[in-house]
Amino acid sequence: MDTLTAPTNLLGLPRQELEAFVGALGSKPFRARQLMNWVYKRGVGSFAAMTDLAKDFRKRLSERAEVRTPQIVSRQTSADGTCKWLLRADASQAFEMVFIPEPDRGTLCISSQVGCALDCSFCSTAQQGFNRNLSTAEIVGQVWLAARELDEQRAQAGGEGELRAARCVTNVVLMGMGEPLANFRNVVPALQILLDDFGFDLSRRRVTLSTSGLVPQIYRLAERSNVALAVSLHAPDDALRNELVPINRKHPIGELLTACWHYLDEQNGRSVTFEYVMLAGVNDSPAQARALARLLHGHPAKVNLIPFNPFPGTRYRRSSPAVIQRFRDELLQRGVLATIRRTRGDDIDAACGQLAGRVIDRTTVRLGNKVIGLAVQP
Ligand code: SAH
Repeated sequence: MDTLTAPTNLLGLPRQELEAFVGALGSKPFRARQLMNWVYKRGVGSFAAMTDLAKDFRKRLSERAEVRTPQIVSRQTSADGTCKWLLRADASQAFEMVFIPEPDRGTLCISSQVGCALDCSFCSTAQQGFNRNLSTAEIVGQVWLAARELDEQRAQAGGEGELRAARCVTNVVLMGMGEPLANFRNVVPALQILLDDFGFDLSRRRVTLSTSGLVPQIYRLAERSNVALAVSLHAPDDALRNELVPINRKHPIGELLTACWHYLDEQNGRSVTFEYVMLAGVNDSPAQARALARLLHGHPAKVNLIPFNPFPGTRYRRSSPAVIQRFRDELLQRGVLATIRRTRGDDIDAACGQLAGRVIDRTTVRLGNKVIGLAVQP
């Protein structure tokens, strides 16, 4: 192995690849499990501290490997306890992750890309354009980093039992910046590490991948993973969905739903969650609720109604609470399970669709109106 090559970031290697790596360093593959135990169970990133590994092996690891997370540019905490971190992607760009504490769980919302190329008309990330995919290590590194940050917060909180209990990552959702299925190659190994007994050991029902509807990749995902699936539907008919979620022009609702039911069959999953952002006067009428119910009735589906979160420059407004309630009732009356997502962290722009980070757009269409070279200050 070439000693001049950059160290391998272990956060990017699912177990099999880590075993191969460890083997190439001249150690027995089962050492990979010990190593994962240190890295994921105990949150240790320094090889010197891994005292049950042979000294020689630790030395080789320090020469060839590292455990490196994205660097934190800034942290913000909302009045409701939601935390948002701005993380460095490179010298000039950043992406975001959000932790949402609830009494019975702690959900970490992670990003899969710097920006997003899909251009959904109501999403602030879309306005930034797309720069690049995050690596597996950058995706896994968010979870590792958040766990460490929350450890520190709990330590500081000392004896306050309630805070201690709630501030742990129990659930991970790929609902931050980016379209996870457009970064399939890096996202799938990251999911493996999240689920691996020797990794974060999360149950597959506690890891949710949300997609805007990349149909071929949903079929591929069914072969490679079994995490919970959420789909950003947002409209009950193709004409409106073409406008809100432009990928619909390529993969219309009918095809998308067929792919969802296939995913459930293959994975023995319970249901698909359909996200539906509530936009005043656009997709929130009772007739549209009834159309949505006709699409989903009789299928293992849940609808999650998301009150629209505004951002500068948007032409949309949030539906009123009464309209959202009425929409939900129409669905429930027709036997379609529906919940309303409570808005969290909106005072720090950490709510759904508000994540912006700092993205230098590389899609030519938008280059004209971007500020290039905006440095991220530490
Ligand atoms: N690209 C993936 C992952 C992002 S998930 C996807 O589209 O599913 C983020 C969720 O928040 C999606 O359901 C998205 O449609 C929704 N969202 C985007 N902008 C929003 C906004 N301004 N207000 C509320 N929800 C929004």
